[in-house]
Amino acid sequence: MTVVVSAKGADRWHGGHPWIYRTDVYAEPKREPGIVHVTDRRGRFLGQALYSPQSEIRLRFLTPGDESIDAGWWRDRIAAALARRAGIPATAYRVVHAEGDGLPSLVIDRYGPYAVAQLLSAGLERARADVLAGILAALSPEGVLLRNDTAIRRHEGLPLEVVVAHGTVPETAVEVVEHGVRYLAALHTGQKTGAFLDQRDNRVLVAAHTRPGGRALDLFTYHGSFALHLARHAAQVIAVDSSADALARGREHAKLNGLDNITWREANAFDLLRELERREEIFDTVVLDPPAFAKTKLSVPKALGGYKEINLRAMRLLAPGGVLFTCSCSYHVHRPVFQEMLAAAAHDAGRRLEFLALTGASSDHPEILNIPETGYLKGALLRAVD
Ligand code: SAH
Repeated sequence: MTVVVSAKGADRWHGGHPWIYRTDVYAEPKREPGIVHVTDRRGRFLGQALYSPQSEIRLRFLTPGDESIDAGWWRDRIAAALARRAGIPATAYRVVHAEGDGLPSLVIDRYGPYAVAQLLSAGLERARADVLAGILAALSPEGVLLRNDTAIRRHEGLPLEVVVAHGTVPETAVEVVEHGVRYLAALHTGQKTGAFLDQRDNRVLVAAHTRPGGRALDLFTYHGSFALHLARHAAQVIAVDSSADALARGREHAKLNGLDNITWREANAFDLLRELERREEIFDTVVLDPPAFAKTKLSVPKALGGYKEINLRAMRLLAPGGVLFTCSCSYHVHRPVFQEMLAAAAHDAGRRLEFLALTGASSDHPEILNIPETGYLKGALLRAVD
């Protein structure tokens, strides 16, 4: 099938962005999802794309050529993405970061011998058999799990499901070693594909700035991923989450690493921050890794209120010279807005803070400059000047 797009649609591809929206599609003769040829209104061939007839994002660019997109094509693309990850000192990492790796709507994470994939568009769903064959050929996994249970699939008219598509993938958690820290990831049920792989580089960065023998606080710890890294340097770490299940796994992880200096606290981070402030507690290192407060553009103003509150309270807890690592994974909260919020929080907290680093997601989640959607995670490492 051939889909015809407007000049504006074609322009988006020329500018390096893979998406063409419904409003820039001029003719779509058969409303069948899959891989389609795309031309402009003069019939000039523009390339091949994934086509989603029900989605606002109608076309996702795959290739400028007219080659056959078969299992071998997916294998080569996945293998090239894998080669770009060579040397990552962890057994779990993202092999394919969708648009960030030129494979729109496809996510593949590797957890040791297992692959966990997400097919996030209707066009890609049609290519499932070839994509799967490509994963097997490029990664030779013992098992492939499809974590197709993310809400994005609803925009594509696709069902939510978690299925083992090849081999076996244990229901019990799989061990991950990340820069020498061991933890378990529940591939079938854990958040995202089992763990927050996007924070790996940031954990190492914060650990390097953790005062040896000091006190550290890890808020929104989930199963303790930052806390474990901090506990290798700090004398005492308090790890906080509202989920008792996540904390139970955190405790297991501490044991697995032979660490006995982490206190696990089930609490609402907003309440606990107020309590710690009242008690005038002081920390040398604080990590703030909240869930996305802004899920839509409309919710940004309210979300900023929440971000500012936790940040200004965390800033007040810092010892002189103490370090705060703070982040936002809300795509709609863009970098400049995030920075403005931090400045306002520092103002209200009455603290002078120095920027040590501005970060994004780990290097296996490539952020492409002209595809802003590939970058959602922003982090700032700040040091209290006095
Ligand atoms: N830091 C983690 C990821 C955190 S994800 C890592 O690097 O792996 C966000 C976490 O915040 C989830 O575990 C969720 O249970 C927790 N959470 C959400 N709202 C919360 C709240 N108000 N107080 C405390 N924890 C909360």
